[in-house]
Amino acid sequence: MKAVAVWPERRQVSVEDRAPPVIGSPTSVRLRVLDVGICGTDGEICRFDYGGTPPPGEDHLVVGHEALGEVIEAGPAVSSLSPGDLVVPIVRRPCGRADCSACRAGHPDFCETGAYTERGIVGAHGFLAEEVVEEERYLVRLPPELREVGVLTEPLTIAEKALRQFLEVRRRLPWLRQATDSELFAGRTALVLGAGPVGLLGCMLLRLRGLSVTVYSRGPAGERRARLVEALGGTYLSTADVPTSSLAERVGRIDLVYEAAGASQLAFDALAQLGTNGVFIFTGVPGRKHHIQVAGDVIMRRLVLRNQIVLGTVNADRMDFESAARDLVGIRKAWPGALEALITGRHPMDRFCQLAGDGSGIKDVIAVSAP
Ligand code: BGC
Repeated sequence: MKAVAVWPERRQVSVEDRAPPVIGSPTSVRLRVLDVGICGTDGEICRFDYGGTPPPGEDHLVVGHEALGEVIEAGPAVSSLSPGDLVVPIVRRPCGRADCSACRAGHPDFCETGAYTERGIVGAHGFLAEEVVEEERYLVRLPPELREVGVLTEPLTIAEKALRQFLEVRRRLPWLRQATDSELFAGRTALVLGAGPVGLLGCMLLRLRGLSVTVYSRGPAGERRARLVEALGGTYLSTADVPTSSLAERVGRIDLVYEAAGASQLAFDALAQLGTNGVFIFTGVPGRKHHIQVAGDVIMRRLVLRNQIVLGTVNADRMDFESAARDLVGIRKAWPGALEALITGRHPMDRFCQLAGDGSGIKDVIAVSAP
C-alpha cells in the first residue's frame, strides 16, 4: 500500500510502498483512510523545522495527523465500532511515565513531561497511508452525513479545547460560578486573529455558541474568506484597513481573543486591546524568525488593572473530538455549505509537501481513497 513518509536524516519526503498494517490487538481497528488534511505543522515537517521524528529505532515517519477513515475490520474485543463506521483518530498518545499526572489521568494533551508521542508528528507513524490500525479508544465515531467535511474534525478540536478553557476561566468570577455554558457565552464579544482554517473554524464555533465575532486578518475585505465570515454573521476586518491599535474602539469590549494566526507581533499588539476580565488564547506556533517589539509596560499594566488572563493551548482531548463531531453537524445545519467552502482542494498523495508549503488554499486535503 502507499504512504507518505519523511526521512529526516536524508531530508526527504516521499510516497513509499509499505506492507498494509494488521490488527495487532483484540481492541484494535483497521481503517481505510479516506481524507487527510494538511496544516502548518505539516509544512514545518516538510521543511525539517519541527516534528517529523521517527518512532524509536526507525529512520522514517509516516506523516498525516488530520485524518478521516472508515472502519474495515474490528478486533474481536472492539465493542463500539463496526465495519462501515466513519471515524477520526485522536492525535496524541500518553507519555506513560509514572510522574506525569496528566497522562496518567488520561489527558495527554496536558502532558507534563513532553515525552508524549503524536501520530504523524513525533514518535508515532501517522495516517497518510491507504490503511492504518488504531486502538478503539483513540477513535471517535462521526455520523455518515459528515463524510465530506469530517476531515475538519481535528482542526476544529483546537477551538473546542480553547472554548472549554474560556468557560473554566470565566467561571472563576465569583458571580458566575454556577452559570451554565450558555450564560457564560451570552452577550460576549470575541476577536479571532487569522482567517486560516483554525481561525475560520474558531469563528464558526464561536458564532454557533452565540458570541458576536470579528475576524481580523491580512487578506483584503470583500474576498472569499471575508465573505465567509460575513455569511456566518461575523464581521471581517483587514489589517490593511484597520490598525490593531484601534480594534477595541471598532469592536467594543473584547472578552475573548482567539489567536489563530501564529504571528507574534500581531498577537501581542492585539493583547493590548483585550477588555476587562478578558481572556486571550494563543493557539498558533510562530516561526523563530526575528525578535518583535512588545509594548510590555502597557500590556502588563492592563493585565493587572483589568484582571485579564492569557493562556496557550495545544492539542485536544477525546472530549474535544466528541464535541467537534457534534458541532460539525450543528454548523452544517446553521450555515449549509460553509464547512465545504473551507475545503479548497482534494489532491493525490504525491502533492503533500508542495501543498504543505503553499498558503493559498484554506484547507487542502489529500484524498487517499475514493468514497
Ligand atoms: C496538531 C496538534 C499537535 C500540535 C503540536 C498541531 O498541528 O493539530 O495535534 O499537538 O500540532 O505538535
